[in-house]
Amino acid sequence: MLARALHVAAPRAKRWLGSAGIARLEAIRCEPLLSHGCGRSSSSSAGEDDKPRLGSVPPGVVELLQKLKDIPIERIRNFSIVAHVDHGKSTLADRILEQSGNIFRPGEAPLTKSRAAADTNEQVLDSLKVERERGITVKAQTASILFRPDGDPSSEPYLLNLIDTPGHVDFAYEVSRSLAACQGALLLVDCSQGVQAQTVANHAAAVKAHLALVPVLTKIDLPNADPEPALEQMETVLGLPAEAAVWTSGKTGEGVREALAALVDVVPPPSGRRDAPMRALLFDSWYDEFRGVVCVLQVVDGQLHRGDRIALAHGDSPYTVSEMGVLTPTRYPVEQLVAGQVGYVITGMRNPREAVVGDTVFVSAGPGAAANFPEELKPQPLPGFDPAKPMVFASIFPVETSDFDSLRVAVEKLSLTDASVSLTKENSSSLGFGYRCGFLGLLHMDVFHQRLADEFDMPVIATAPMVPYRLQLLGSTELVEVERPDDFPDPAQIVRTHEPMVRASVIVPDTALSAVMTLMQEHRARQEEMTYLDDGRVLVRYIMPWQEVVTNFFDKIKSATAGYATFDYEPAGYEESPVLKVDMLLNGRPVDALSFVTHRDSAEVQGRRVAQKLRSVIKRQQFEVVIQAAMGKKIFARERIAPFRKDVLSRSGKTVGGGDLTRKKKLLEKQKKGKARMRSIGDVQLSQDAFHSVLSR
Ligand code: GDP
Ligand code: MG
Repeated sequence: MLARALHVAAPRAKRWLGSAGIARLEAIRCEPLLSHGCGRSSSSSAGEDDKPRLGSVPPGVVELLQKLKDIPIERIRNFSIVAHVDHGKSTLADRILEQSGNIFRPGEAPLTKSRAAADTNEQVLDSLKVERERGITVKAQTASILFRPDGDPSSEPYLLNLIDTPGHVDFAYEVSRSLAACQGALLLVDCSQGVQAQTVANHAAAVKAHLALVPVLTKIDLPNADPEPALEQMETVLGLPAEAAVWTSGKTGEGVREALAALVDVVPPPSGRRDAPMRALLFDSWYDEFRGVVCVLQVVDGQLHRGDRIALAHGDSPYTVSEMGVLTPTRYPVEQLVAGQVGYVITGMRNPREAVVGDTVFVSAGPGAAANFPEELKPQPLPGFDPAKPMVFASIFPVETSDFDSLRVAVEKLSLTDASVSLTKENSSSLGFGYRCGFLGLLHMDVFHQRLADEFDMPVIATAPMVPYRLQLLGSTELVEVERPDDFPDPAQIVRTHEPMVRASVIVPDTALSAVMTLMQEHRARQEEMTYLDDGRVLVRYIMPWQEVVTNFFDKIKSATAGYATFDYEPAGYEESPVLKVDMLLNGRPVDALSFVTHRDSAEVQGRRVAQKLRSVIKRQQFEVVIQAAMGKKIFARERIAPFRKDVLSRSGKTVGGGDLTRKKKLLEKQKKGKARMRSIGDVQLSQDAFHSVLSR
């Protein structure tokens, strides 16, 4: 992975930002990570010309806008779809949107307006490269639909709010907040693949959120579909009754109606009250170039109106709601949203960092303000607010030192659309100006790097990723958090160290089990349990250090199992562990960008490896170069690069000065002096290439 994060990127087509992708349900989740409102299309964002005209609005949306305010809370269901990657979540969601008339079927869309293309179902390759390579979904988007279980157009519809969640553990907190807006979920299992690691992780998150689950088998149209093992795994691994499973195909649309009907039966409506002060859960947001921050929220209690003054429980400034509406997933403005409904809100907010996911929105002035209600109804902030903290840190530097200004511009732009990256300026003695970046996780870091390369053509050098360690220092009882090797104190100052852990699930064919077990052991993983599945696969759970995961682990497990293992993890607190910092020295001087933190047992091996690597990439100089690896004051590895031996006694192949001994002596003497001077000023300059090859270890 690191190798990829470090690549000097060739400019790549920005295909994943193509405008055709906007109708996909799954638009970029950390969309804030992506610049434009991909998948966050608006029917009214970019001026009059973009306003939808009658005929260009899909029929399901027209009806939704008409019926919205008459649907009682008992007929609302808020749900999400969870699945292992590639099990068909996006495809099924597309069928749901098609059947509800929220998007045009291919060929149905009026082609007169460019905007109408946003509401067609055009399958496009919309995923990020990292997503495809790593097999994870970063994206999510929300949509409201009308649904009638009996299919009778004259019956009273249900309002279903499909709340999509990011599919990756990096966004565990945001997943927990979007699941907090749901009462149920469709849990998808591809009938040809069975339960996978992400299914297990998603299921655990859904159970934790007390969601009512509808088990759904997908891809039953496949000619080789053999649902028995998948059904059995639903029972044995997830504890879901096989007879409750709905058989569906996202390809043919079969079973989609049945799945939603089961959802309406099994999932309770939201429990808010409409005659109370307004209270809403902010569970998603993104940055729109034209409109500023767009917040997605679920109204939990009361009513929210356009023009209301609103405030966040954990924020300062109040805002005025200038536009609000529903997502289909296209944005359609409405005048009010009431308890149980889900929609978007646009205020004057420009800074995405003010829209913290999980925060509670109140009305400070407007009909829903607490002041208009009896004191005993005074609304409390919703539970579960605990903003995600960065868990992977690395510094980035421009490949050309002189490019710092371009990097600054790129980083400032990116941080506007991705409020979860933390950034501080960095001045390294060996690499000049750069940024210290904190990411929610590995994928988040990769996406950031990819965007730097793709959108800004900004190749960077990144230092080795590091997780936040907690240290207890001499003379103190408190733990301090350290997230850069430079801040790691001398070992003599440290009483104890704690490192962040994850709980990992691996599902692997039993033929590759021993390879996985060896790999996990090498990465300090502790096995917790092992379950044999009936189809020849094994589910193994481990507790392992997060640091081990951020060091190229995905690639390792992939190659160890020929790609047959699935791997997922969730945060699992901190454990005491003897970690320490290794410094790399060149002619006695530490090279800050190369120092790293690691477990005591692997420090020597890693230090030696870096020293050898340095030896192979540093060019010979006029002076001797000594490469050392050290823990505190203790040097444990040493490599040497001999200086050039320029033969000063010959010139153009001829011996200088004939047989004159004093002349020879004089020349040698001069050379010796020159070398001594070189050594004293002989600061080894590491080329950028050298940094690259060392850091991509
Ligand atoms: P996601 O990662 O869960 O969103 O999965 P996608 O919806 O992107 O589907 C992954 C792949 O499976 C795509 O190539 C789809 O075309 C295919 N696929 C999804 N659902 C079905 C289905 O019901 N039947 C068949 N035959 N293929 C499907
Ligand atoms: Mg998908």
